Amino acid sequence: MAESKNFIHQIIDEELAEGGRCYGQKVHTRFPPEPNGYLHIGHAKALEIDFGTAEVYGGLCNLRMDDTNPTKEDEEYVEAIKEDIHWLGHDWDDRFFYASDYFEQMYGYAVELIKKGLAYVCELTPEQMKDMRGDTQTPAQSPYRDRPIEESLDLFARMRAGEFEDGKMTLRAKIDLASGNFNMRDPVIYRINHLPHHRTGTKWVIYPMYDFAHPIEDAIEGITHSLCSLEFESHRPLYNWVVENISIETKPRQIEFARLGITHTVLSKRKLRAMIEAGIVSGWDDPRMPTLCGLRRRGYTPASIHNFSARNGVAKVNSVVDFAFLEYCLREDLNEHAKRAMAVIRPVKLVIDNYPDGQTEEFDIENNPQDESAGTRKVSFSRELYIEQEDFMEVPAPKYFRLFPGNEVRLKSAYIVKCESCEKDADGNVTVIHCTYDKDSRGGNPADGRKIKSTIHWVDASNAVDAEVRLYDRLFTTEQPDLADCNYLDFINPNSLTVITGAKLEKSLENTQPQDRFQFLRTGYFCADTKDSKPGHLVFNMAVSLKDSYKPEN
Ligand code: ATP
Ligand code: MG
Repeated sequence: MAESKNFIHQIIDEELAEGGRCYGQKVHTRFPPEPNGYLHIGHAKALEIDFGTAEVYGGLCNLRMDDTNPTKEDEEYVEAIKEDIHWLGHDWDDRFFYASDYFEQMYGYAVELIKKGLAYVCELTPEQMKDMRGDTQTPAQSPYRDRPIEESLDLFARMRAGEFEDGKMTLRAKIDLASGNFNMRDPVIYRINHLPHHRTGTKWVIYPMYDFAHPIEDAIEGITHSLCSLEFESHRPLYNWVVENISIETKPRQIEFARLGITHTVLSKRKLRAMIEAGIVSGWDDPRMPTLCGLRRRGYTPASIHNFSARNGVAKVNSVVDFAFLEYCLREDLNEHAKRAMAVIRPVKLVIDNYPDGQTEEFDIENNPQDESAGTRKVSFSRELYIEQEDFMEVPAPKYFRLFPGNEVRLKSAYIVKCESCEKDADGNVTVIHCTYDKDSRGGNPADGRKIKSTIHWVDASNAVDAEVRLYDRLFTTEQPDLADCNYLDFINPNSLTVITGAKLEKSLENTQPQDRFQFLRTGYFCADTKDSKPGHLVFNMAVSLKDSYKPEN
């Protein structure tokens, strides 16, 4: 089936055609993260579009750190960003750049604009400028707008030399105060900031604004298509103004696409950072975070994220996608690829009274019913097993078909057992369930063909492996915690993490390595934690439950 082209690819097709703007050229895009936080699932969409478009057209995509802001950028983030992009399967070869490497060139272009009478040093305070640009009244001209070019050149050089304190002066583009587009009303293109920069240190005390820097970065790198999210749409005239008015050959084109939003979470680095600082989550890679490293630790696969991004399409209207759809994409991938295993999350002992004490046997159980090539494994069985507490009810609820006194169930791939009685502790908690087994039902099928309504999973108590299991629920209690008129921190779900110690796993999981993923039968997909799990002390994160409606209970 031919996939219909998204609107960006339609534009590119036209531009590559004979007579088009890019006829005969290679498509060249870039992904320009600001290294002030970790990448999140929204960035995965931008990556899909930036790297994906280059791939579709046999072109190139640069990775560029958009580090024009000295205040909050950090090398830690740079490394993390690279790791996350590689994990998703994208690569930039040797085309890795820092916007800060272009500071000298940007300065030169600013000087060029001043010389052309297209920029001036302005001494209005931020408040005065805000008023005069027309935030609250009709736009008015800065008294510095018509200062002589020589004076601006001199002041700009002295701004660079560090003669003035922060906020004292700015360099503004001279465009159109009457423009209906606020961005075109003589925007600031350079500001003074004496904070040290993560790469250039104290060399610079003036920094270019995004709207001036970004088109220059794109043009220097020979970017043909600068793909960015929708909030930059009204900045496009300024982007074009910059590339048209400086002497640079490449004239890149900005095209905007809709941002991805997702329910029950927030996708702003600032807000995510605040949650870490408040101790609500353990870090950027907390498995509840919508960051790529959080999702990876949780058990998400590159394929699931790729499918999620691709299926959401490329639109021109922002949308909020249900988190359940991301989970669906993961379930779909792991259903095909994850090995099955038996794990009892909240165990209770089951004793088969008529099974000889000391006897053991093994069953061959398929590793993945979706994939015969995954083979089988041996799972041991003996007189004492663990089953889930919820698979037994002393007094069954209506339509409860699992274990209760007098009822039979199938132990997955093993035998049919019949519940005889249970033991309880002083508080009335069930401690042991007594059963008898049907010797003639080996493999799980009764010889007389009688109908058994339920199959439950189990773990051999004689060699079970202990594990800690971390169950997760939504991080927020409401679908859209970051709607403008509310404080997202008011909607934190206090029960988003449930830690269970003493889960019992089948022995084959003994040597599980961090990041190994399994389907725990009847429960969900789990991933061995990268930070805390090791053989001898296994820790599993629930990546996603099998059921959509799964809610971990406390
Ligand atoms: P945040 O608001 O989360 O801090 P940002 O836009 O400031 O995000 P950048 O590091 O500047 O983050 O983003 C790099 C690229 O990723 C930009 O091109 C941006 O448009 C894109 N991007 C960021 N968030 C999303 C999103 N939710 N959906 C689609 N693209 C996004
Ligand atoms: Mg940003």
